[in-house]
Amino acid sequence: MNNYARLPVAFARGAGSKLWDTEGREYLDFTSGIAVTNLGHAHPKVTAALQEQAGMLLHTSNLYEIPLQEQVAGKLAELSGLPKAFFCNSGAEANEAAIKLARRYSQLKHGAEKFEILTLHDSFHGRTLATVTATCKPKFQEGFAPLMPGFTYVEKELGKIEAAIGAHTCAILVEPVQGEGGVLPLGAEFLQGLRELCDAKGILLLFDEVQTGIGRTGQMFGFQSAGVLPDIITLAKGLGNGVPVGAMLAKEEVAAAFTPGTHGSTFGGNPLAMAAALAVLTAIEEEELLSHAVQMGEELQGRLQRLIEKYPFIIGVRGQGLLQGLVFDRPVAPLVSKCLDHGLLVLSAGEHTLRLLPPLIVTSAELHLGVTLLEEAIKETSA
Ligand SMILES: *Cc1c(COP(=O)(O)O)cnc(C)c1O
Repeated sequence: MNNYARLPVAFARGAGSKLWDTEGREYLDFTSGIAVTNLGHAHPKVTAALQEQAGMLLHTSNLYEIPLQEQVAGKLAELSGLPKAFFCNSGAEANEAAIKLARRYSQLKHGAEKFEILTLHDSFHGRTLATVTATCKPKFQEGFAPLMPGFTYVEKELGKIEAAIGAHTCAILVEPVQGEGGVLPLGAEFLQGLRELCDAKGILLLFDEVQTGIGRTGQMFGFQSAGVLPDIITLAKGLGNGVPVGAMLAKEEVAAAFTPGTHGSTFGGNPLAMAAALAVLTAIEEEELLSHAVQMGEELQGRLQRLIEKYPFIIGVRGQGLLQGLVFDRPVAPLVSKCLDHGLLVLSAGEHTLRLLPPLIVTSAELHLGVTLLEEAIKETSA
């Protein structure tokens, strides 16, 4: 179906930060498949784990115990401080699970009138009916009415959020750095303020870490740089390095609202997906990719800063770790296709922001090359 505006290129092979198209031409990948291939393409440990698992067992079902799933849940618990996990296959599905768990926990605890979830302006939470309703962007909602009841959009201001919390409110759902909305970090102070507000009002704090999770911001999870612990987080994109895996992590008391039969997924957490997730989490640790991502993020931001000084139509850079946005005073779509001509893959985020998501394994030399290619494309599109 014609629901994607695709660029005219097809890739046949990848390795690390590089891709090769069907004609054999080389590209530098600063999209990571939209924050998915955080370990780069064809990472040897992920490839080996998948090959081994594929020869043993792909799938049984959640009717039976799945030791690999318990292992991944244990690792995620240790890394996040959130002890319980539910597995699914995508970001939207993880957010659906979070919406259902927040409602069910709140309704069991406070009664049926607790169902409303607050979400923020510039948010993105997915394309299913509930998650596209949670997403505050009319363009994504046109033609899909009636949307889901029980969602309210609020401005990114603690006072306004406090005023919006009413008798029906059960939770607030936010991305620590708003990705699709334009690479907009909410900031530690704001996230801490949200935690205090949720505690004071007795509502749940939900972080959508589908894009910010799995090392993207230089921490394993985006919330960790803010020093707050949310009640629920959702993960997907980077968790399987390209194998579809989603997850929801929650505090013990909240997770207890899901009892046998209340929620489920056929594929969620199957042995193949869990082999990928385990290999990803292990490789990030073994290769010390978090500290590397912090370093590379700083270097990238520095290089982008120099572009701002040179070109008056580039007005800012913002982001965290290897999730960086370069803000222009004009639409960036022409620049994205010009970068492709120069052998560099980049993304937009909103109309005016160029989004750069190199893999966590990116090298200093690759950052240098990428920003050089970007500058050539900038010169040509502005000429
Ligand atoms: C990509 C994304 C989603 C949706 O994930 P899918 O796997 O496409 O369903 C949800 N939330 C955020 C923050 C995202 O970046």
